[in-house]
Amino acid sequence: MSRSRKFLLAGNWKMNKLQKDLEGFFTGLKKEVKFDIASNNKVDVLFALPYTFLEKAVSLTRGSGITIASENVAYAASGAYTGEVSISMLQEVGVSSALIGHSERRTLFGDTEESVQKRIQACLKEEDFCPIVCVGETLEQREGGKTTEVITKQVKNILDVYKADKKLIIAYEPVWAIGTGKTATNEQAEEVHALIRKLIREAFGAEVADRTRILYGGSANPKNISGLLDQPDIDGALVGGASLVPADFAYMINCAYEK
Ligand code: PEP
Repeated sequence: MSRSRKFLLAGNWKMNKLQKDLEGFFTGLKKEVKFDIASNNKVDVLFALPYTFLEKAVSLTRGSGITIASENVAYAASGAYTGEVSISMLQEVGVSSALIGHSERRTLFGDTEESVQKRIQACLKEEDFCPIVCVGETLEQREGGKTTEVITKQVKNILDVYKADKKLIIAYEPVWAIGTGKTATNEQAEEVHALIRKLIREAFGAEVADRTRILYGGSANPKNISGLLDQPDIDGALVGGASLVPADFAYMINCAYEK
């Protein structure tokens, strides 16, 4: 299938591993990936990592084509925000993208629609800092027939502050599928991805909708990745558990390359 958007396979390590594991991990990954990530035009590879890993990860992956991102970012530029890390602090160590609004940040650490919006706005003030914004419905919302309503509200919240000349990646991560081993079916995932693309098209037109990458996340793994990537509106995956094992994540990256 010929696609207009390059796939993106993004790992999210959450609070797993230690900085000392990075070198062995990237060496293992390099052995398993069957093509040159830096020069290929089909697949991008990214890792969202804990703050203390970032500088070393940037240095270890320099020239490899792998992008290093943070797992969150402050909405404020500087000041009295104990425990937060700003965009300029990330840029200082060579990081220019961040996850925003992951469901674990929303459910465990109080991220709200408003704070998500403020974090996106902070990224978009920069010349080149890409927000990777997560949306997704809970099991209760899906079973209550509320998926379309919930996703529409979350995506409109993003698009209300988006500027079309800036980078944006959206990750659809059904909360009930994250870390549970339950994946959305290809059809369930595609239905929501198509809805998200339609919302982008309505707000910003076809060109922006056609270029914006929308990732699926929620127990994506070597067994289900091929079917997910075959869906026309799924442009890659945000991967938690399976991104911790070099052979598994490399398998998924290779799978995207072979599409
Ligand atoms: C995630 O953390 O974004 C995620 C999708 O996790 P998992 O792949 O483990 O479900």
